[in-house]
Amino acid sequence: MYPKLNIDKQKLAENVRFIKSESDKYGVDICCVTKCFCAIPEIVDIYFENGIREFADSRIQNLKKINYVGVKRWLLRLPMLSEVEDVVKYSDISLNSQVKTVQALGEEASKIGVVHNVVMMVDLGDLREGVRPEKAIETAKAFNSVDGIKLLGVGVNLNCYGGVLPTETNINELVQIAEEIEKECGITLEVISGGNSGSIYLMQEGKLNKRVNNLRLGEVVFVGQETSYQKNIEGMHENIFTLELEVIEIEDKPSVHIGETGLNSFGEVAVYEDKGIMKRAIVGCGRQDVDISMIEPLDKNIEIIGFSSDHIILDFTKKGESFIGEKIKFNVSYGAILSLCTSEYVCKEVR
Ligand SMILES: *Cc1c(COP(=O)(O)O)cnc(C)c1O
Repeated sequence: MYPKLNIDKQKLAENVRFIKSESDKYGVDICCVTKCFCAIPEIVDIYFENGIREFADSRIQNLKKINYVGVKRWLLRLPMLSEVEDVVKYSDISLNSQVKTVQALGEEASKIGVVHNVVMMVDLGDLREGVRPEKAIETAKAFNSVDGIKLLGVGVNLNCYGGVLPTETNINELVQIAEEIEKECGITLEVISGGNSGSIYLMQEGKLNKRVNNLRLGEVVFVGQETSYQKNIEGMHENIFTLELEVIEIEDKPSVHIGETGLNSFGEVAVYEDKGIMKRAIVGCGRQDVDISMIEPLDKNIEIIGFSSDHIILDFTKKGESFIGEKIKFNVSYGAILSLCTSEYVCKEVR
């Protein structure tokens, strides 16, 4: 079945083992983030079989699918008040910043007789989730006093909305906040979670504050690059996911439209360079599945011309022999993996 997203089992297994042993070396526990690939069980199995015992996802629907004995499940996105019942049921740890939400989680946890673990998120400038440092102590105290809740630790998320890089300075600030909370609340925080795949470079350079004992890793594991400077990590494979699309039309056509033009099907004005008559091909996949700016043909002689909901148009002028039914391979970026895994029209093959 096409479109097909191939997942290389062997390479992924090697990446998982590599990043696990690398983190072990620095005393950092990792929880592996499954949201990008919708926690597809066959992929999660590879992580589990290669030693991962903590998993994290932003959606409860995905956490529900991860149910090995003895694993910890983290909910990454701040819980909605309307889902606290499922949060307590399907996650062991959730990231939080809102006292109201933590109170609701505590109430639910007490009701079913469990203690729910909470990691308080601190915003250190990326401006997505988390309380600002000046509000951290007061919020931690409030979390710590809720029945049914254990304040397990603090965490930060960077590299996301604002693209702010993790540095020794902001990570040390997180640790400083954690230590103040410990003093003020008279507790020890078990977890200081120093970010995502963007923090790997600090760890590998030995610059991650020694009290940071957790990272939440998604992209680095299956893209093989750290995400602060997009550097390949020596010892890791890069193209774990590849996309294969099937050719459904090959025709010689002009490169500029004929006739009066209005807007395309997405309300945009189409502008194309006149390259004369081209050999154009269509493959069966489209905007409903993936954004073309996030995929790249392996064959450098193929160029992507454009797309609509269900069609991607390719320039085959420089390509050698080609035929209907031919499968064209593409490298995919994080954003492409995200949408391709979400699309039910794309077949996922782990092999
Ligand atoms: C998505 C996410 C991660 C993982 O990010 P990667 O860049 O894929 O490693 C970690 N923490 C939070 C809160 C996230 O939302």
